[in-house]
Amino acid sequence: MELPVINTNAPVAAYEDPLDLMDEIEALKKERDASILAHFYVDGDLQDIADFTGDSLKLARDATQVKTSTIVFCGVHFMGESAKILSPEKKVLMPDLHAGCSLAESCPADRLAAYQAELRAKGHDFQTVAYINTTAAVKSLCDWIVTSGNAREIIDRVPADKEILFVPDQHLGRYLSSVTGRPMILWPGSCMVHEVFSVQDLLRAKRNHHGSLVMSHPECPANILEVSDIIGGTEKMRKYVASVKEPKTFLVATEANMIHPLKKLAPQHEYIPVPGIMTSTGETCACNRCPHMALNTLQKVRDCLKYSRPEIVWQPYFSQAQDVLKRSLLQ
Ligand code: SF4
Repeated sequence: MELPVINTNAPVAAYEDPLDLMDEIEALKKERDASILAHFYVDGDLQDIADFTGDSLKLARDATQVKTSTIVFCGVHFMGESAKILSPEKKVLMPDLHAGCSLAESCPADRLAAYQAELRAKGHDFQTVAYINTTAAVKSLCDWIVTSGNAREIIDRVPADKEILFVPDQHLGRYLSSVTGRPMILWPGSCMVHEVFSVQDLLRAKRNHHGSLVMSHPECPANILEVSDIIGGTEKMRKYVASVKEPKTFLVATEANMIHPLKKLAPQHEYIPVPGIMTSTGETCACNRCPHMALNTLQKVRDCLKYSRPEIVWQPYFSQAQDVLKRSLLQ
């Protein structure tokens, strides 16, 4: 499915007091029998009002445990789809259906199907492993779905005599290939946020913060991972900082909102977003913010609860994606 293009000319919503909005949301949640799920990359205010926060893996699992009849998913489109696919009986609302993902968009279903056919015609005997950052239409063409939290375990389940086609993130695929020892055919996709970190600026920051540790998401390119002390998805980052009792400085190479849950969990540390302090002027650079995640706002959460839309509606190809998601994430 093609996701709509973000309309940068859309009218800006009038200012509303965040505390009033939070009260309204709380009341509407009860009225509509709804729970809020929020990814670690959305704004801290949204994480604070959520009933569940987490990475893609945790939230996909949480969606199956929610007791209310409605889920409001603060994240991006493929996450809302996964919640609907795993909990078809629930109404799944999203604050903004335009919240897509550059990574998911880099691998359209028709192009993947054509590439799979081409590989088979050339005699490749492979299974397709997809990162969860893919549309449901792409998931329906795959054998396995991985998140940064369960990737190694799932790749071990691919029979040793099969090749692996990994989609859509080339950087994550390269990293997983190096840690699992499984050669992979890589789809040339990448995330617009994780692609931008400058290794030179990162090294300068490390030098300026003596004793700091670099913590990077495996969606970062290899040159960033090579100079990182900790490589892992968002849950691994949380576990790591919680395990270090002595105050440290962490240079965090992932979406900058991730600092919010890290600070809440382990406030003894200092967290510096990469490349936030890297410019020569000392100004904060905003390119480590995901513009898609940023489409989630308190106003839109209130409105989607109030009007019960926009909603993720069941599509015919969700059934096939459901088999793959259940096998990969719930078993
Ligand atoms: S941070 Fe990157 S991978 Fe995550 S939703 Fe945004 S564009 Fe997609």
